[in-house]
Amino acid sequence: MKVTLLFKSDSKIKMMIEDVDVGFVNALRRILVSEIPAYAVDHIVVYENTSQLYDEILAHRLGLIPLSTPLNVTKEVTLSIEKEGPCIVYSGDMVSDDELINPIIPDIPITKLGDNQKIKINCIATAGIAKTHAKYQTCLVFYKYFPVIEINKKCDLCGVCVEACPRNVIEIKNDSIETANIEECTLCRSCEEQCDLKAINVSYDPRKFIFTIENYGNMSIKDLIEVSTSIIEEKCDNFITALAGVAEHGQRR
Ligand code: SF4
Ligand code: SF4
Repeated sequence: MKVTLLFKSDSKIKMMIEDVDVGFVNALRRILVSEIPAYAVDHIVVYENTSQLYDEILAHRLGLIPLSTPLNVTKEVTLSIEKEGPCIVYSGDMVSDDELINPIIPDIPITKLGDNQKIKINCIATAGIAKTHAKYQTCLVFYKYFPVIEINKKCDLCGVCVEACPRNVIEIKNDSIETANIEECTLCRSCEEQCDLKAINVSYDPRKFIFTIENYGNMSIKDLIEVSTSIIEEKCDNFITALAGVAEHGQRR
């Protein structure tokens, strides 16, 4: 397997993965979006709520606030809110009993309090995975096959395909059709459809992928990749152990 970094920021990574099949990249995508343990508010204890929102609505809003998640996720954490109006209560008003587990974005509005309105709530955050509830999802992941664009000798350099491309991937350079930023190609085939001479062919490499991860801030991209690869490793180990059991005791019916 070969991995080439195409783009990296704190919240996004784009890489080219080669010499793997679609099963592997899809397994990696599914684990990243649904099996990474992360913290989210799971239930709340309401001591006082004279705001305009029902307790249930507040619980729903609090559950969707992304929380920072360290690699070691075992215990429950309490985040408390105590505010009196007039004011807007923000995610940043949640006071955590663990300095590592806090709202990532401090200015998410939770509710607005009028004169003499008050809320006093304890939010209990637990670690879970997005397979059981979307509030635990840590990232968005997508991939596409690496495009392959071939021009044959029928090409008369008319330039129609250049105009037809919505991503500016094709250009005429040095009296020939060339591709620039080919990873921007969406495989839409618009260029192919517009070429009357059938001189351009769009396909893809089935063992080469452009793989993108965008995190929600709960964990760094580095931690997400580390955790996801260790989950794949554990699943493979479990499979090998199960297979060895079948070989030893015979096929189950
Ligand atoms: S549209 Fe076809 S013939 Fe025209 S430049 Fe593109 S590939 Fe060549
Ligand atoms: S397939 Fe679509 S995006 Fe790719 S080069 Fe052709 S027109 Fe552009």
